[in-house]
Amino acid sequence: MSRVFNFSAGPAMLPEPVLQQAGEEITDWHGSGMSVMEMSHRGPEFESIIEAAEADLRELLAIPDEYFVLFLQGGASSQFSAVPLNLLGDKDRADYINTGSWSQKAIKEGKRYCRTQIPASAEAENFTWIPKQDQLELDPGAAYCHITTNNTIFGTEYHYLPDTGDVPLVADMSSDILSGPIDVSRFGVIYAGAQKNIGPSGLTIVIVRKDLVGHAWEQCPAMLNYQTHADTGSMYNTPPTYAIYIAGLVFRWLKEGGGLSVMEQTNRRKAAKLYDTIDASDFYRSPVEPEDRSLMNVPFTLADPDLDATFLEEAAAQGLVTLKGHRSVGGMRASIYNAMPEEGVDSLVAFMQDFERRYG
Ligand SMILES: *Cc1c(COP(=O)(O)O)cnc(C)c1O
Repeated sequence: MSRVFNFSAGPAMLPEPVLQQAGEEITDWHGSGMSVMEMSHRGPEFESIIEAAEADLRELLAIPDEYFVLFLQGGASSQFSAVPLNLLGDKDRADYINTGSWSQKAIKEGKRYCRTQIPASAEAENFTWIPKQDQLELDPGAAYCHITTNNTIFGTEYHYLPDTGDVPLVADMSSDILSGPIDVSRFGVIYAGAQKNIGPSGLTIVIVRKDLVGHAWEQCPAMLNYQTHADTGSMYNTPPTYAIYIAGLVFRWLKEGGGLSVMEQTNRRKAAKLYDTIDASDFYRSPVEPEDRSLMNVPFTLADPDLDATFLEEAAAQGLVTLKGHRSVGGMRASIYNAMPEEGVDSLVAFMQDFERRYG
């Protein structure tokens, strides 16, 4: 079978040139006679791979020197614990803006260590919107303020950054990191599991302001302590070497494509094509407030849910796969991360319009 357009929320599509190159290098990386999977993480070959990956990521996101970049294991979910353990210090509370299931999981974990305060929540409306600055009841005494910049399940995304004053802003960016430029200096910590918009699962990237490192609780496990990994260049133990290598190829692909401003333009165009199709019809519906819609994950429902199975079956027959929505929203969800080609969105739009003509 030829490659499909895979709308999975994660693990998600990777750029085809990256997969091609990885394939070509699978048994012999650059004349080393070894696969990257077989290399010592402390050898000069892998050292050059992780150094290039970090340098390219720093360039793409314009990460200031005052930040560490860490390549870790454990998924974004481990960061739900690492953040409080590293950042609470002698404070007893932190703010968590509640915009969906991933925010709730961060809150649940945070509760083990401190009082979790909710400056705003979109739960009453099933997370169809993003709280705005004037709706936030922020505590200037909080150790940090945690946000989920893109809500993978509900399809909402921050299109502004909360101003938290001197309180460090901590962001779970798992599903929209690298979708466009960001001002890293606005954040205390940015973290992301790789499997949505970076590379394979197994890698978690943490970007942390240097002055926030070194204050972890005494009980903090070494593996969750940012200082452990900052001191050792992410080599305290064996990092996820192959995932770092693929992420590095993705960074190179982004740079060669013109960087994140170009990527953002493409992402805006892709998302607009889908939302315009949904809004132009009475057959499809987006549950999300238009101004808060995600550029990465586009949930939509069919007027008649009895047609869901037929929609999914016919779409799959055309090579448009993994469109089933999350159970908490229902309907469909098209995840259109960086690696989803614009042709994939065009095909989906054409299919949706044809499906509506036949069943609407
Ligand atoms: C997928 C996802 C997670 C969970 O990531 P893991 O790497 O599986 O732990 C957390 N937050 C967001 C926003 C996600 O999309």
